[in-house]
Amino acid sequence: MSDYYNPHRKNKYDKVSVELFRLSRSKIDLFINCPRCFYLDRKLGIGQPGGYPFSLNNAVDKLLKKEFDIHRAKGTKHPLMETYGINAIPLADEKINLWRDSMRGGITYKVPGTNVVITGGVDDVWVNPKGEFIIVDYKATSKEEEVSLDADWQIAYKRQMEIYQWLFRQNGFKVSDTGYFVYCNGRADKKAFDGKLEFDVKIIPYKGDDSWVDKTVHDAIACLKLSKLPAPGPDCDFCKYREAVRTFE
Ligand code: SF4
Repeated sequence: MSDYYNPHRKNKYDKVSVELFRLSRSKIDLFINCPRCFYLDRKLGIGQPGGYPFSLNNAVDKLLKKEFDIHRAKGTKHPLMETYGINAIPLADEKINLWRDSMRGGITYKVPGTNVVITGGVDDVWVNPKGEFIIVDYKATSKEEEVSLDADWQIAYKRQMEIYQWLFRQNGFKVSDTGYFVYCNGRADKKAFDGKLEFDVKIIPYKGDDSWVDKTVHDAIACLKLSKLPAPGPDCDFCKYREAVRTFE
């Protein structure tokens, strides 16, 4: 085991405990991808080895937040919103920084009849003249082609948006079905680096449908109550690999 991997997670689910149990939207996504890994992580406290932090993506997120905050304070549209004809402004709400901070708060909802609290940390919320909240997610990448939401793997981005829409609706807010991805594409076609990376920034609308969330949340909670490991998901090959290795042990 490397110095960087500690498999033992805190905050495990205990079905007899009455303490509130925080379950993040990324763990709901883990459940969708593989109930077994979800169970190992949230019930038994054995987490998947993680990747290294995406520091550059985090820096882009941080700067975008600052940029939209300037317009939030003034109650004005960001120029990108003008360019894309979006009739909204960044939401000025005293809770915005809490909703953005998934570690220390986030947008939360306690599932009725359970001690489970679903949590998420949203990048931004805008508001339109009808008072509807618009969920916004920032993304950063660097690729030659135009950014889009067309790749199969980007279903995770769409689910992320839909869980946030669901979370805000459960908190009693009116939420627009249309959310936006502010997608930054780092340009690698410049002659030289010169100590700076320039980005093309595109806003991509996405019409969410959160009708799947409630059932999935209940299925995930039911999974945590199992007394044996559930089957692995179909799209990860590591357990099959481990089984194959085991035949030679
Ligand atoms: S199949 Fe993959 S994701 Fe699922 S339990 Fe095995 S290693 Fe984890």
